[in-house]
Amino acid sequence: MPSTFDYTWDTPVYKGSTSFSTGLYIGGKFVDGSNKTTIDVINPSTGKVITKIAEGTPKDVDIAVAAAQKAYETVWGLNCPGNERGRLLNKLADLMDIHRDEYAAVEALDNGKTFNWAKNADLGLCIDTIRYYAGWADKIHGSTIETSEDKLNYTRHEPIGVVGQIIPWNFPLMMVCWKIGPALATGNAIVLKPSEFTPLTALLTAKLIDEAGFPPGVVNIVNGYGSTVGQAIAEHMHIEKVAFTGSTLVGRKVMEAAAKSNLKKVTLELGGKSPSIVFDDADLSVAVEWAAHGIYFNHGQTCCAGSRIFVHEKIYDTFLHKFTEKSKSLKVGDPFALDSFQGPQVSEIQFNRIMGYIDSGKQEGATLHMGGHRIGTEGYFISPTIFTDVRPEMRIVREEIFGPVGVIIKFKDDDDIIHQANDTVYGLAAALFTTNVKRAIKTAHALHAGTVWVNCSNTLYANVPFGGYKQSGIGRELGEYALSNYTNVKAIQINIA
Ligand code: NDP
Repeated sequence: MPSTFDYTWDTPVYKGSTSFSTGLYIGGKFVDGSNKTTIDVINPSTGKVITKIAEGTPKDVDIAVAAAQKAYETVWGLNCPGNERGRLLNKLADLMDIHRDEYAAVEALDNGKTFNWAKNADLGLCIDTIRYYAGWADKIHGSTIETSEDKLNYTRHEPIGVVGQIIPWNFPLMMVCWKIGPALATGNAIVLKPSEFTPLTALLTAKLIDEAGFPPGVVNIVNGYGSTVGQAIAEHMHIEKVAFTGSTLVGRKVMEAAAKSNLKKVTLELGGKSPSIVFDDADLSVAVEWAAHGIYFNHGQTCCAGSRIFVHEKIYDTFLHKFTEKSKSLKVGDPFALDSFQGPQVSEIQFNRIMGYIDSGKQEGATLHMGGHRIGTEGYFISPTIFTDVRPEMRIVREEIFGPVGVIIKFKDDDDIIHQANDTVYGLAAALFTTNVKRAIKTAHALHAGTVWVNCSNTLYANVPFGGYKQSGIGRELGEYALSNYTNVKAIQINIA
């Protein structure tokens, strides 16, 4: 029997407790991995072990896929009406809402994001997403198509079957919800792998999925490493579609495994190096607030982080001064403190990766304008960091750092800035700041990005699509667009002559 994770908090922001199984969730039961091995889950605020979770293996993926297939063919998929799927999703959303504070506490402990951000930003969007797709469940249908009077043609949007979902550690619960919401609304059965760094809120969700009354096998959660469990999902012959969020490097591997196995459908939500553009007519207080949110939200561990901040030369000095003041005011510390804005980075690996980028910026001749150092002696805290005097070829300008590290770059004119902003292999998002509506629209249309924010940044809604151009991904999540990732369209032609 897998063990249970029991934890009690007595902090300024949350007093309460949690209790859930740390096993794999397969066929409606919490079980040990087939090798009976475990993975340590680390608290990034201290570097110490919080608990151990069961480690899944490729064999466990096979067992989970079999459970998902059985559920799909008997009680789910086309055998479960949309209104029932919607009812179950709504029930899950209600339960998540009831457990909102507990979820936020688990996320803060496991991932390091602050309790307040987890509760208000992450949980809000998580619950909205599940409710949004609950609403879609009985509104998924094809259409009739006129050809000639002797033919009746119509389409059906059928579920794909068993789908695999591989998610990262930066928004652990949000990624669960973005993935399972559209997949369940459309009637698919799921095998999901959370990140080994942040598996806990997925396991709490498994408990609530059970409580909501989803039939056993509809959702299966297999903890484990990417190279074993993730790879087994990507190359499984009975998984018909895989959805992945994470690095571009691993996204390529997932696509390759899909191509080499059964040519399963692939959607990818990958990295970014998003520009924030501040024009000379911008409202500077708005630009400073949102550009700071753009890079520092979630400790910079955001795929759409506005990590390249372009500022018009006329306002560069004033912007830099105000942006520096804002950056200094952000309190880095205990995720359970009342006034913390930023907690630790997620892991020692990620901490070292970010510090490596900071070193490379210094070595390549950029000016470290602010920050660039560790905070405290335990855990993985890094101060908000700004580089100036950068050149386009520097690694800190080209590569995704995934930390609280921004580069600030001067620009001269509108054509020049479009060229610079688009000069990246990524195309996930962009933000621009101007009070001129024509300039806003022209620039938004010229940017190669899946999302463009005007006078805001890093805002997401369950009903607005999200995804990337270029190497930032394939397909869209959220909104109505995500549904098409999870259905096959069947055209039926009947001869009525
Ligand atoms: P990865 O892309 O390695 O991990 C994302 C998920 O993929 C995890 O669940 C991971 O498992 C899994 N995985 C790893 N290897 C494979 C594989 N061969 N086949 C299938 N699944 C696999 O991201 P990292 O966590 O290592 O972060 C590295 C960098 O990626 C970051 O610095 C950042 O730049 C970027 N990133 C981007 C994200 C985004 O939202 N676009 C999210 C996270 C990271 P495991 O549990 O073993 O890690």
